[in-house]
Amino acid sequence: MFDNAKLQLANLLTENVNKIVMYHKFSNLSHNIESSSKLFEQQLIYITKAFKNKILSSPSSRQTGIHLTIDDGYQDFYDLAYPLLVKYEVPATFYVCTGFINKELWMWYDKIEYLLETTPVKYFEIVLAGQPHAWSLTSKIEKENCALQLQSILKSFPSNEVSAEINAISKLLEIEIPVLPPYKYSACSWGQLRDMDPELINIGAHSHTHPILTNCTDEQLSFELKHCTELLQKELQRPIKHFCYPNGQSTDYSNTVIEKLKQLGYESAVTAFTDGYNCKDRYKIRRCSGVESMHRFKKHVNGVEHLSKKWISFKTRNNNENNVFSR
Ligand SMILES: [Zn+2]
Repeated sequence: MFDNAKLQLANLLTENVNKIVMYHKFSNLSHNIESSSKLFEQQLIYITKAFKNKILSSPSSRQTGIHLTIDDGYQDFYDLAYPLLVKYEVPATFYVCTGFINKELWMWYDKIEYLLETTPVKYFEIVLAGQPHAWSLTSKIEKENCALQLQSILKSFPSNEVSAEINAISKLLEIEIPVLPPYKYSACSWGQLRDMDPELINIGAHSHTHPILTNCTDEQLSFELKHCTELLQKELQRPIKHFCYPNGQSTDYSNTVIEKLKQLGYESAVTAFTDGYNCKDRYKIRRCSGVESMHRFKKHVNGVEHLSKKWISFKTRNNNENNVFSR
């Protein structure tokens, strides 16, 4: 267990590292990537005390400190998390997918979760990219595992193929996908985005349809970034300065993507990983997850996670160098 003295030491050692925390969904209960609203409130109380003068108003602030970010644009942010941010006066950045807000789509990975949650089928086989897969679906855990594995396999597929595969999965699982998502998977409306206090909540962009940008053709990439930016500017009547890469791993953005973001006037872009590298590039901002327990959260925001990742990369580098030397 980490006691307060260890947390304080980690905090001191990572004083010049920004702690950008990432959330997606909120719920009255906690499940997978959802954060419970009760835990979120505890986290807000903690940071307002422990990081009193270090809570940043944007992910690209010139000061060093902590900033909260929320991805995708789910309705539960407006219903559960936004009132708490108002109550504790904690600023945050809410990155939204404009196609999702526009009710043109729901997130493909939510469709998978929905299909597995509702299917009557007990055994399921499918061939994906030439590989046969089979799952027994007799319990909630088996269904959740199947959903996670399907999400992970389909992540690397081009977006038009993902839609085709989801349609095939929907048929095999004998469930029709509703046009509009159920509440749990639904998006905020434009009215709700306008209703949020712009002094407290930055609305950032997260593409139009949430594809992995490095899998897009040039034409698709331009559409995803430009259309999303123009729609946000038109609907919210304010400049949009912050971007969040869909999926957010190091292979999900490139110099081409960053150049296009700069041309569109973006000041920052966030990833969805932390690697112990104190990256000062405002278009490669690292983030840690806020979803887990209060204990993990304290470790994240005080820099313990950053230090342990830094130690792992130092050890790996050292081992590799030793291996090269011994050859
Ligand atoms: Zn996302």
